[in-house]
Amino acid sequence: MKAEIIAVGSELLLGQITNTNGAFISQKLAEIGVDIYYHTVVGDNPKRLDEAIAIAQKRADTIIFTGGLGPTKDDLTKETIASRLGVSLVSNEEALTEIKAYFERTGRLMTENNKKQALVLEGSHVLPNRHGMAPGMALEKDEIRYILLPGPPHEMKPMFEQEAIPFLLGALGKNEVITSRVLKFYGIGEAELEDRVQLILDKQENPTVAPLASPDAVTLRLTAKAESFEAAERLMAPVEDEIRGMVGDFIYGTDEDTLSSKAAELLLKRGLSIAAAESMTAGLFLAELTSEAGISAALKGGVIVYDKEAKVEQLDISRSLLDEFGVVSKECAAALATQVKRKFQSDIGVGLTGVAGPDPHDNQPVGTVWIGISLYDGTVETYKLSLSGSRNSNRRRAAHYALYYLIKHLQ
Ligand code: ATP
Ligand code: MG
Repeated sequence: MKAEIIAVGSELLLGQITNTNGAFISQKLAEIGVDIYYHTVVGDNPKRLDEAIAIAQKRADTIIFTGGLGPTKDDLTKETIASRLGVSLVSNEEALTEIKAYFERTGRLMTENNKKQALVLEGSHVLPNRHGMAPGMALEKDEIRYILLPGPPHEMKPMFEQEAIPFLLGALGKNEVITSRVLKFYGIGEAELEDRVQLILDKQENPTVAPLASPDAVTLRLTAKAESFEAAERLMAPVEDEIRGMVGDFIYGTDEDTLSSKAAELLLKRGLSIAAAESMTAGLFLAELTSEAGISAALKGGVIVYDKEAKVEQLDISRSLLDEFGVVSKECAAALATQVKRKFQSDIGVGLTGVAGPDPHDNQPVGTVWIGISLYDGTVETYKLSLSGSRNSNRRRAAHYALYYLIKHLQ
């Protein structure tokens, strides 16, 4: 199967919105092994859309459209496809009933142009829209498959996953399930991760292993295909074990886990309480942790001790220690962690101090961070970071590293 995605909408060409639908559809097609050779973006202009379809027909056997299925005048996708294929548009009873019901439910007046949304390509397989009004369509003509999807991502995504993917799998003659697991990494860059799991990336087949990096996370996605869910899981397990054997130290969670959700989950599971003293991050660490529901069972509280005097007065950290080692030091981070743990009578204390930038502070370069974690057994661990981002990226990453080290201790 050779697929092309045609995203329709002048706002895409003007840069007012980004073609996230194209990215989403591509990812999902890659997961089921469909090759995507081209992405086309074209405005709400029937002549140019018609030309784009003519080109796609020459080089693809599966053409996926998003956008332009709505009721307004500029929504021309299905009309243009209909005329190019010589197929007429017919009213779909189910879709019309749904649209009428929607207007009754919301007490709004249905206008004539809304009926246009119930028009579908004759002979097409109608893809119901569970989050909006315009139905999607799938049609095969002269050995080319056409899939029409609405533009709004919250309508398009579920329709694509629930309706279009099974249609494509059927066309591929595949009767299989696809399942995937995402391994989430922290504290390792994308390049280093790829380098360390190169052996696995080279020999991957089923499951496939795909790295993906965003500013805040590095992940590996394992995707397996098999005749049943259990069989797919059995294919993935040894590969996951192998990856964990190579770079398991940097894995903090899987799938929907985030640093804060994982830290909260482990604290609650182990019945441990926590408190934090934050200087450089000024509450970012605790703000992340408190985004998790149920954290009140583990979180005692915290203090923001930004100023040197505040560290002395609020936490009884010795002034001579701060004079001797500085506020951006291993000793200060350890003292913050130990003292906040003592003050709040918690099992774990976390201390964060550092230089966010843009200027150096206390003779330490921008990006220097010390994290202290005082543990239930009386030990204190400290970690030094040398970050190289902007002020607020350094602050955010310092908070994230603290969550990551906490998770590693709790695991
Ligand atoms: P509607 O019924 O809302 O008019 P439609 O199927 O006609 O839906 P469009 O009018 O083309 O779709 O786009 C509606 C909205 O959907 C756009 O304003 C935009 O917010 C979003 N959208 C459209 N295409 C894309 C795309 N390729 N990527 C991301 N978002 C998109
Ligand atoms: Mg529209």
